[in-house]
Amino acid sequence: MPLLSATVALLSFAGPSASLRLSPAAPRMSAVDAPPQQAASPAPDAISSSAPLHVLIAGGGVGGLALANCLELSDAPVTYTVLERTSEFKKFGGPIQLASNAMQGFRSIDEELYKQIEARATWTGNRTNGIKDGVRDEWYAKFDLRSPAESREMPFTCVVERPELQEILMRRTHDNLRLGAGVESYGKRSDGGVVATLQTGEQVHGDVLIGADGIWSNVRAAMTETPARGEGSGVTYSGYTASEEKPDGSSPYLQKLFEGWSPEIHDILRVTQEHEIEQRDLYDRPPSVLKPWNKGRVALLGDAIHAMMPNLGQGGCQALEDALVISEQLTSLSSRGEIEGALQGYRNRRLTPLGAVQGLSRFASDIIIRGFDTPAKLGFSGGKLVAENLNYAGVVTRLLQPILPVFFAVQFAFLYDGWENKFSLKQLQIGLSIFAFGSLFLIAFAATAGSEEVLNSLGGGPPGL
Ligand SMILES: Cc1cc2nc3c(=O)[nH]c(=O)nc-3n(C[C@H](O)[C@H](O)[C@H](O)COP(=O)(O)OP(=O)(O)OC[C@H]3O[C@@H](n4cnc5c(N)ncnc54)[C@H](O)[C@@H]3O)c2cc1C
Repeated sequence: MPLLSATVALLSFAGPSASLRLSPAAPRMSAVDAPPQQAASPAPDAISSSAPLHVLIAGGGVGGLALANCLELSDAPVTYTVLERTSEFKKFGGPIQLASNAMQGFRSIDEELYKQIEARATWTGNRTNGIKDGVRDEWYAKFDLRSPAESREMPFTCVVERPELQEILMRRTHDNLRLGAGVESYGKRSDGGVVATLQTGEQVHGDVLIGADGIWSNVRAAMTETPARGEGSGVTYSGYTASEEKPDGSSPYLQKLFEGWSPEIHDILRVTQEHEIEQRDLYDRPPSVLKPWNKGRVALLGDAIHAMMPNLGQGGCQALEDALVISEQLTSLSSRGEIEGALQGYRNRRLTPLGAVQGLSRFASDIIIRGFDTPAKLGFSGGKLVAENLNYAGVVTRLLQPILPVFFAVQFAFLYDGWENKFSLKQLQIGLSIFAFGSLFLIAFAATAGSEEVLNSLGGGPPGL
């Protein structure tokens, strides 16, 4: 698979490790703090400033904190508590790409929040982007991120250090963030509300619970009565990992692994220091069309329901879009009796766009990474006909070269037009075009990637670990 996505390469290195501590600020008065008899007293049906809707958010990652910001800035009678398992956020993970749809989403939450993120951004959407032939150091396909953003007056795609993004997202919300508060499970109150049971045994009451607790979600496990991890969890190990011993260190190991690849790659590997290299094994879940996203007054968000391969750099962006939609659905309510319908509305608005993006991410990882090969080349050198990589995969890769930029253009149109998650006929048409293009690629690569990978892209594949 000697083709490299410039974006993926950029995301492989992390900054120096350090810890981000929160001052233990006193959380606002909320149902969480109420004495047990008060917490158990039934909430009125009407949502009002004297009986605001209380939203429990399990998980303070990208999605959970984005939702917290939406609710914080809302004028509606809504309060919230973020229950985060970790007791201390560590600086981990390197940069995250925020595509134009995510930056537009942040801008829609609040101009000031957007400006804070913008101040920490390294812009990539106005540069040359694409897929490079990792051996020959030639562009295989370029994709234009600039024009689709400019024509829609959207911000360019950028990358931001994850800990910096997290710190920005916590600025307004940290009073309502409880660290060391891992959610173990949840139950239903007699008045229809929810009670989250923490790993400490403490019970926290609210009107709604949003499971933003990542790929190994306990909220999902409780909702679907399946294990959070392992067999039956639906979480599939992608197989992209290196488990060998590295006695000389990670950098020499990587340099050896990439022997024969382009000098550009070796330049990057050489200047990357040992402490900047992290191993992050990749897991995802098959597109979840039939699996429940919501049950009663509980809904799942982000990786908890649609973890995806990072090839499109959309996992966090889609978690943000979930947050925007959940916030819109919940802040428009006037009574608690409407909550279930609002969460179902969230699922309905997100299902189609999300299915397309998650499918594309799987497709990109299974077919492009495993199926693509160095493009075949025919030419004359020294008066002789020279043929390079003239195998099936090499020829198909070459034949698809002119089509791929069109595919990318369609994909960006879909992502950028759809960030508000409102139904439109145009979006449906673009979605169908993506399906048609995707199917073409899948058929073309079925023989190279093998039927197992094709199945993976369609949401099948090996049983979860
Ligand atoms: C290598 C790699 C590169 C990536 N690059 C990009 C990129 O460039 N752009 C992009 O958009 N996406 C990218 N992603 C995907 C992105 O990181 C995720 O999709 C995103 O972080 C999901 O956000 P989330 O809020 O759903 O979950 P997370 O960010 O995983 O947050 C979950 C939070 O919940 C907490 N938690 C866990 N269990 C519990 C519990 N029981 N109770 C309470 N709290 C709990 C965790 O501590 C964590 O803080 C990448 C992923 C990988 C692996």
